[in-house]
Amino acid sequence: MCKHILNAQVAVRSPCCKKWFDCADCHAEQETHPLLQRFEMIFACKKCKKCFRKDAQEMEEADEYCPHCDNHYVIPAKTPQAAISVESEDVRVDNRMIRDDRVKPNPEKERRTIFDPDADGDKLG
Ligand SMILES: [Zn+2]
Ligand SMILES: [Zn+2]
Ligand SMILES: [Zn+2]
Repeated sequence: MCKHILNAQVAVRSPCCKKWFDCADCHAEQETHPLLQRFEMIFACKKCKKCFRKDAQEMEEADEYCPHCDNHYVIPAKTPQAAISVESEDVRVDNRMIRDDRVKPNPEKERRTIFDPDADGDKLG
């Protein structure tokens, strides 16, 4: 699922690797090669699940609608701002847990001090 455009109405088939992506960012995250740009694109409508072909050079207002179900798929992208705030809250919880671990005595470290002759030598000297 695309986490960049929450209201994606279509999936686009990449001309380079022939896979379906919701947006160029999804392709960049999943593939190591750059997305091949072509004027003719193959779309899959998320509403009726049917594919259609569009030439970006000949895009008209009528072409912003799915030819099968008239779903308006060229719409302003809704980006996940709410999701980001939830993520930062999760990070804060994680930080608290990390801090708690540090407060607890670290038995491994104590053992190392006892059995490390160099550390004792430093203390005496
Ligand atoms: Zn590709
Ligand atoms: Zn995406
Ligand atoms: Zn459709």
